[in-house]
Formats: sequence, C-alpha cells, structure tokens
Amino acid sequence: MATLTLSQLDKNYGAFHAVKGIDLDVADGEFVALVGPSGCGKSTTLRMIAGLEDITGGDIRIGDRVVNDLAPRARNISMVFQSYALYPHMTVGENMGFTLKIAGRDKAEIDAAVAEAARALEITQLLDRRPAQLSGGQRQRVAMGRAIVRDPDVFLFDEPLSNLDAKLRGQMRTEIKQLHARLKATVVYVTHDQVEAMTLADRIVIMKDGNIEQVGTPDEVFNQPASQFVAGFIGSPPMNMADAVTTATGLRFANGLELPMPPGFNVAEGRKVVFGLRPDDLYPEGHGIHSEGGHAVTTMDLTVDLSEPLGNETLLFVDLADKRFTGRMLNPRRVTPGEVMTFHLDLSNAHLFDADSGLSLR
Ligand code: ATP
Repeated sequence: MATLTLSQLDKNYGAFHAVKGIDLDVADGEFVALVGPSGCGKSTTLRMIAGLEDITGGDIRIGDRVVNDLAPRARNISMVFQSYALYPHMTVGENMGFTLKIAGRDKAEIDAAVAEAARALEITQLLDRRPAQLSGGQRQRVAMGRAIVRDPDVFLFDEPLSNLDAKLRGQMRTEIKQLHARLKATVVYVTHDQVEAMTLADRIVIMKDGNIEQVGTPDEVFNQPASQFVAGFIGSPPMNMADAVTTATGLRFANGLELPMPPGFNVAEGRKVVFGLRPDDLYPEGHGIHSEGGHAVTTMDLTVDLSEPLGNETLLFVDLADKRFTGRMLNPRRVTPGEVMTFHLDLSNAHLFDADSGLSLR
C-alpha cells in the first residue's frame, strides 16, 4: 500500500475548468471519500488518479513516484466502477484473474490469488458462474474481488453501490468497511451518498465547482462545517438556516424575532449572517437527542405545521423566523397539525456563517 498525494491538480475540458488546482494528501491505509453535488469534479478527479483522463496541470504521486504520465496499468491501482465492468463471456474466476493473466503471471499464482480473494468476499461457490448468472450484489462483490486480486497500492471506487437497492447497499457498505479494516488499503471512494461517506471514510472531502470546500473527519465536517455549503450538504434532514443581522446582544431575524448570540461567536454588531441549527438541536421539551448539561438552551412556543412519524422518532416542521425549520422528537407521541409545543433550541450547537462569503464565523 502507499500514500497518494495530489498537488495543484487541474483539469480543463476545452474552456471548461472542471478541477481547479486541488491539493489532497491521503495517508497509507486511509479511506477517503469524495462527495459533492453532481458535476463538482469527483469522477474527473478519480479518473485522473487512475490515469483514465489526462491531467491539465499539477502532480499525482503514489508513494514517492510521480505517476502523471504513467499508463493506468503501470500505476498499480485498482478501480471498481458503478457498472461493475465484468466480461460477460468469462467465468467469475476468469474475470477475477484476468489482469494477472495479461500481466503474465503463472496459473498457480493466479489461482491462489483468486481463491484467496474469493474467500475474503465469500464468493468461492460462484467462481464457475458467468456474470449473467449473478445478482447485482454478487456482481459487485466479483468486481471488488477483481480489484483485490491485483494487490494494488491504491483502490479507487466510483459510486460502487449506486446500482443496488437500499437494503443491499447497506449490507455491502458493512462489507466494504470490514474489508478495509482487514486489508488496510489506501482508498479513494467517490459517492453522492453522504451516509456512505460518513460511515465508511476516515476523512471526507467535500467538493464544489471543481474546488475542495473542506477536508475533515466525519465528526469535523458534521460538527464544524467550514461553510454554509458544507453545512447544508452534510446531515439529513439538512441543517435549518435563516438570514439574520447581529445586534449588540444576539441575532435579529427579518420577522423581528430575536435570539441570544450563540456561544463561541464574537461577531460585530450589524453584520449580515446566516444562522444554522440542526434538527437535532430543535426539539420539544423533554424529547431532546443530546444532553443539555452546560448548554445555552433557549425555549419558545412554536406551532407544529406538520409531523412525520418515523417510528423511533418524529420530525416536526415549525415556522421560525418565517422559515420552515425541521425539529426532531425522540420518544415520539402523536402530534396534530396546529398543536403548539414548547421547543428547546440548543444554541451551543448553532452555527453562524457570513452572509456574503458563506464561511463559518466560528
Ligand atoms: P456526478 O456526481 O454527476 O458523477 P461528478 O462530480 O463526478 O458528477 P464529473 O463527472 O467529474 O462530475 O464532471 C465535472 C464537470 O466536468 C461536469 O460539469 C461535466 O459536465 C464536465 N465533464 C466531464 N467530462 C467531460 C468531458 N469529457 N468533456 C467535457 N466536459 C466534461
């Protein structure tokens, strides 16, 4: 295995600047997820690392080798695609061993490597089948088996689970996590599914318009988002946000509502900001998700417009500062639309962003 370093990596498609000089260090054995909205440059970045796309500028290093001009095969990378890309006329075993075969390895060595990868992925019983005789999840496992067999320096995954149904996706997510723990592989994993990114990755890279917005652990990008964009992208349901202006003591919203200044912010009076509060931090009295000990909690009566029972919790929609805010209620009970409930707002967990730049003011 090896480190992977991107330095000022750039990609133009004609006049279109798809990746804008990004820097990223991936440690040996680290699992990094690239996330961001459609078109932000995730796949282009991955394909440049793989050598499937020329780079316009910058450097890609694997270990201490600059691989910019190396052919994909010479980079010692394995890539797992969304489409699996299995050869239909070959058996599972032949698919898995194919790259070793064209690399000229002898049959005994190939058979041993295929058998070991098949054991790791529990697909030994499928080795003689052809791809058409497999389920979607089994095909995905074969595609991963083919990647493992090569014992690469770096694994690249391009939305590998997006063709699977929700249940299978959950199962495969667990398997990828276990596999990573066992192989201690260096992984770059592209996904638009933030749950996948949060559960699998050591660090998450959030991209927007060809730039990196933030790199951090799942905990950092969730609890300390560097920008309004990251705050809105990570977390489900998304963070509630409303425009406000700072006053001498706190925040004033467009409808006249005032709130105390959230702890930890030191913002001059009269500044335009965006106030952010996660649904977890807006809850009816006695139904909180976090402990309130030592937290600055503000209490107010709010009318519930709508509720969505989810079994173990209920989402509540209320109007706050003329915006629809989502709250969360643990230990749910029935709520009728129009009911007025006393809510707690945990301002110690609130966020403030500059209204113009979108950057966090913490
Ligand atoms: P998605 O989640 O939809 O796959 P992405 O973040 O992976 O999106 P990329 O596929 O990396 O996005 O594309 C980044 C941008 O580059 C997009 O605006 C896309 O239209 C553009 N692009 C990608 N490939 C080409 C190409 N061959 N020629 C021109 N533009 C391209």
